Amino acid sequence: MKLQPSLSSEPEKKNVLAGILILVIGLLLTAIITYYFAMMNKAEDLMRFDYETHLIIRRIQNRMSQYEGALIQTRAFLNNTGNVQRHQIQSYIKDTEIFKRYPGLQGIGYTLMFSAKHKDAYVSEMRKTIPDFRIWPEGRRDTYTSIIVLEPFDWRNQKAIGFDMYQEPTRRSAMDKAIVTNQATVTKKIILVQEDEGEKLPGFNFYLPVYRKGSDTSTDQKKQANVIGFIYSPFRTHELFRAIFSDLDMKVDVEIYANDKPLSDDLIYDYDLKKGNVRYGLESTEILEIGGMQFLLHFTPLENFRPSYSHWKTFGVFLGGILITYLLFLIYLFARRQVRIAKIIALEKERLLQKEKEHVSARDDFLSIASHELKTPLTSLKLQAQVMKRAIEKNDPMAITPQRIKALVEQIDSQSTRLTRLVDDMLDISRIRTGRLKMIKDNAELNSIVNDVVERLSPQFMNSVGSPPTVETHGEIKGHWDRFRLEQVFVNLLTNAIRYGEKRPVQIKVERHQNMAHVCVIDQGIGIAPENIHKIFDRFERAGMSASEVSGMGLGLFITNQIVKAHGGTIEVRSEVGKGSTFEVILPLH
Ligand code: ADP
Repeated sequence: MKLQPSLSSEPEKKNVLAGILILVIGLLLTAIITYYFAMMNKAEDLMRFDYETHLIIRRIQNRMSQYEGALIQTRAFLNNTGNVQRHQIQSYIKDTEIFKRYPGLQGIGYTLMFSAKHKDAYVSEMRKTIPDFRIWPEGRRDTYTSIIVLEPFDWRNQKAIGFDMYQEPTRRSAMDKAIVTNQATVTKKIILVQEDEGEKLPGFNFYLPVYRKGSDTSTDQKKQANVIGFIYSPFRTHELFRAIFSDLDMKVDVEIYANDKPLSDDLIYDYDLKKGNVRYGLESTEILEIGGMQFLLHFTPLENFRPSYSHWKTFGVFLGGILITYLLFLIYLFARRQVRIAKIIALEKERLLQKEKEHVSARDDFLSIASHELKTPLTSLKLQAQVMKRAIEKNDPMAITPQRIKALVEQIDSQSTRLTRLVDDMLDISRIRTGRLKMIKDNAELNSIVNDVVERLSPQFMNSVGSPPTVETHGEIKGHWDRFRLEQVFVNLLTNAIRYGEKRPVQIKVERHQNMAHVCVIDQGIGIAPENIHKIFDRFERAGMSASEVSGMGLGLFITNQIVKAHGGTIEVRSEVGKGSTFEVILPLH
């Protein structure tokens, strides 16, 4: 059985649409999921980056406020001590172990501030403890400052003693700001005086003003008039930030500018010493205010940042989505095929059921036709027998004349022939069904077969048509055939021609074309409707006739066809309703 789907095109269209829909939705979902996956990873990276940068910012803020605390603490000591001596400050710094408690604090110092008229007095006072003390750089100025303490007092810091920071504009502006704000104030980028000539590393100073003890600092002028010096911390920025970040697991690089703009001249620190270098599309800047100064911090991820987002991962998700879509599509195709097969099987079942029903109804028809067909001759036989019985009982010589007896016997013979044919047909059907319809082939001549049959049926023809059929032949046609069975074929065709021939003349043509013998039985009878023509060779088919119309069981053509087939031949029919039919038997000669 070939499973040929006979489904209408409408559901088929819907199937195709559903397939396309699966693909489109799958691809759309893939695109959305990929997009959100990438976005989520990027958002996660951004959050982590933000977290890392704020860790750094908080660390810087904490440390710087600690250093501010150290300055405030030292100033408090000065304020409490009154007219403090150099060595007192030094021992205070040592005793409080300020450098231990504030890691990263590189120095703490004290500078005096005085007007030009007090310069000499201060210098001679200082020379008592530092014989070669001098205020430097030289020059006449209205106001002087002079570093008198800078701890730790190492060779580098010793260089700064006596230095007048106020004469240098950057330091001066921070000092002036510190005086009026009374806040710890940071300078812009400077080079510390204690640096070696060669190094010149960037740095800044952190100033806290010291006012005359008990003086009035309610206005800017009063602050300026009463300031006597500054507690301050110098910072070499590289050392400072290295110390601040020493115990941080840095995942982010930071460049620090001593300005609110990232000008390379103001760069005071770069963690990875490589400028720029934006990785993973992440960077940010923050402005940080320390000691009244704005510092710009530029952050970029370091290599160990390890972002969640990656092109490959995103591509993997995308590919996964495509694969799943494709798989779903395949599953859909498979399911669709299964549904189609199930439908086809259901249709086939229905067809078989229908056929079965038709067979059952044909069998029922057959039974009714067969009983009718059998009953007719039997009734007739019974009637003849009763007529004869009555005649014999009456012992009337007129009733049992030889002519009367002959007529009765002829009728009995004809009815029993009819009965025999019916039974023979039924036996043949059963033989065909069980494959026992054997052909006993021998050399035979077709014209003689046809003529024999015509002769045998001539009484019926005379009774019905009034003349025997005309037989048109074209010389001998010899073949290897079962003579008895071929006779049966022509008997069937000619009997049908009588039955369905409307008493009109019947014609037979016997011809040979190459290796084929052709026998046409042509009548001018009722014909067969086109819708029935393909059915007439089926078992029990009577082309829409009821048992009462014309006698017959619908077996003749079925048997005829089987016999012709068993000879390797075919049977064709051409017919037109009301005009007649032509049955053509085509037989191979061998
Ligand atoms: P039946 O015994 O009914 O004639 P057949 O198998 O010989 O059975 O024929 C099957 C049916 O084919 C007939 O019932 C009839 O309807 C149709 N048929 C056969 N031969 C002819 C014919 N020559 N002209 C018209 N119809 C025919």
